[in-house]
Amino acid sequence: MIAAVFAFIIEPSRTIVREVDVESPYWHGAPIKIALISDVHVDNLQVPVSRIEKTGKLIQSLSPDIIFIGGDYAGGYLLKTRMPKAAFENRSKDENNLEIAAMHALGDYNKYAPLGAVAIMGNHDRWWSAAQTRKAFAQTKATFLEDKLLHIKNDKYDFWICGVGDRNNWRNEEPQVCETAPSGVDLLTFVHNPAYFIPYIGQAKIQFSGHLHGGQIRFPIIGAPRTSGPYTEETIKGYMVAGDRVLVVSSGLGMVGLPARFNVPPEVMIINLKSGSKTAASSKIIQNHWFIR
Ligand SMILES: [Zn+2]
Repeated sequence: MIAAVFAFIIEPSRTIVREVDVESPYWHGAPIKIALISDVHVDNLQVPVSRIEKTGKLIQSLSPDIIFIGGDYAGGYLLKTRMPKAAFENRSKDENNLEIAAMHALGDYNKYAPLGAVAIMGNHDRWWSAAQTRKAFAQTKATFLEDKLLHIKNDKYDFWICGVGDRNNWRNEEPQVCETAPSGVDLLTFVHNPAYFIPYIGQAKIQFSGHLHGGQIRFPIIGAPRTSGPYTEETIKGYMVAGDRVLVVSSGLGMVGLPARFNVPPEVMIINLKSGSKTAASSKIIQNHWFIR
């Protein structure tokens, strides 16, 4: 009973700030602070638009150089999470307007960082409506990066972001957008599903993802009984180093299926990326807010 109250009422309202320090030989520029928010899954129960707006203020207070918005904006619980009920055509006007309002609120984060905000497509957004997702972000100042490269260059920075579109898998699709970046440049790969990190799919040296929710319900010792993809356990602290490559994964803000979280609080992530002779990472929780709505 106490666990249920915690999982359905207390934990979903929390927001932690997890800070991940990353060093990589594939980053040559000045140190950069990246905010990553993912899997917002808007709804009027746990993640109303007001919470997205307040979370934006929280991110602003952390002074990131750039904000990454990692997909899965679309919400809904139980069967509404999945197809066909998740589709735009099968939702009410109010529900669709809520999705659009959430994307507009997230796109507005662009003003909270000097290099702006970059958003990508999540699987739930694609199920809801890829076209409506693109359209909603196009109405904001944020950059929607779907199978596209973005070159960021100013007095301090010169790097590229490769935004990979969501799909069921990436095999048999050539050429991959990240591979079209000029060789030798600093390249950050941004893709909703961490599965893109699997060596035979992608070659990212520094990848940012969401999607996993850390399993969303996670028990001590046994871990998460249900996961939505590979690397859930490996990235539970927010990152995984594999040789000279690093995968950073946010466990997200919202929920799907059940409106509950256990042992994986909603989070905003701050990544401090700097150049190093080898790839290394560590993380810690630097803030805990019990209630942001
Ligand atoms: Zn999600």
